[in-house]
Amino acid sequence: MTAQREWFEKDYYKILGVADTATPKEITKAYRKLARESHPDANPGNSAAEDRFKEISAAYDVLNDEAKHKEYDEVRKMGPMGGFGGSGGQPGGYNFNAGDAGLGDLLGQMFTGGRQRRGGAASGVGPRRGGDLEASLTLTFEDAAKGLTTTLHLTADTQCSTCNGSGAKPGTMPHACGNCGGRGVVDDNQGFFSFSTPCPVCQGSGTIIDTPCPTCRGTGVERRPREVNVRLPAGVADGQRIRLKGRGAPGRNGGPPGDLFVVCKVAPHRLFGRDGKNLTLKVPVTFAEAVLGATIQVPSLDGLPVSLRLKPGTQPGSRHRIKGKGIISSSDAGDLIVTVDVVVPTTLSDDERAAVEQLAAADTPSPRQHLSD
Ligand SMILES: [Zn+2]
Ligand SMILES: [Zn+2]
Repeated sequence: MTAQREWFEKDYYKILGVADTATPKEITKAYRKLARESHPDANPGNSAAEDRFKEISAAYDVLNDEAKHKEYDEVRKMGPMGGFGGSGGQPGGYNFNAGDAGLGDLLGQMFTGGRQRRGGAASGVGPRRGGDLEASLTLTFEDAAKGLTTTLHLTADTQCSTCNGSGAKPGTMPHACGNCGGRGVVDDNQGFFSFSTPCPVCQGSGTIIDTPCPTCRGTGVERRPREVNVRLPAGVADGQRIRLKGRGAPGRNGGPPGDLFVVCKVAPHRLFGRDGKNLTLKVPVTFAEAVLGATIQVPSLDGLPVSLRLKPGTQPGSRHRIKGKGIISSSDAGDLIVTVDVVVPTTLSDDERAAVEQLAAADTPSPRQHLSD
C-alpha cells in the first residue's frame, strides 16, 4: 500500500512546481526540466539529487497517467490531509493501521487499476548492461613476458547481496511502470512514424520500486571488495589495457555485465629490455673478443645461458639476433637481440700493457686518414 499511502502524504503538484489545474503538456514540460536537472547521470554520486529525481519521477508517474491522475485528485479532495499545506483540518490525516478495515476497503476499490498492473512487472523489465571497471596490476618483467594467472582484489560495484539486484526491499516487489505499461519504452508519434524512446519515468527499466532496498538504495548494486581471477597472456606490455569481457559490474534487470579493463604496469628488468615481442640485452665484450672473434655465453629470460658466436672484427654497438629466445606466446616467439659493447679497460696489468704497446708499435694504418684529406 506504500504508493497509495504516499498519495495522501505527497503533493505531486508542488513537487513538480505546477498548479493543480496544470494541463498534461505543462506537467510533462515541468517534469522534463526538473528530471534533467536532477538526473543521476548529471549528478553522479549525489544521493540528494537521486532522491529528488525519484520524487519527481514518482510525481510524474501519477500525474502523467490519466487514470492515476484522476484517482489522485479524488484522494486530494478527500482531505483533510496532513501532508497538504492549506487544505486545513486536523493534522496527521488518515490512520493507516492495518486494522483499519474500512479504509482498506476504500483503498482497495480505488486502486484496483494500479494493482492489476503489478502482474506485468517481471515481463516488462528492460535489461541494462553493467558498467565497465578498471583495475591496475603491477607485474614483474618475467610475469609479463611469460603470462600470468592471478587474483585481482577490487572494490567495485557488484550485484547487491540484500536484494539480489532487484533494487526492491526484500519482501516487496517492484511494480510495472504506469507510464509505459512496463514496456520500458514509450511511443513518440510523429506524423506517419512512431518512435520508441526509453520511458522517462522508469528510465527504461519498466518498473517502479516502491520500497527501495536499504542496502543499495534501489540501485541494485553495492560496492564490495571483490576478487577476480584473471589470466594474462604472455607478452603484456607496460601500460597495456587488457579487456576481460563480462568481468565488470553486473547488469541490471537481466542485462549483461560490463567489461573489466586491467591496466598493466610492468616493472623493469635488471638486464633485459623489451621491444615488442623481442627481448633486448647489452653484452660487454673485451677488445680481444671483438677483434679475434669468440663464442660467449649470454643469459636468457628462462634462466639458461645461450651461446652467441661473435665473428672476428665484431663492431661495438653491433646487434646480434638469437632466434626464439624472446617472448614466447602461444602463436609465435620473439628473439633475443644482443647489442655488443666493447669494453675499454681503464687499468692494465704489466702483461696487458706490454701486449697493447706491441699492438700500437705495429704498422697499423690510421683510421682517421679520410679526415685529413
Ligand atoms: Zn539492494
Ligand atoms: Zn516506464
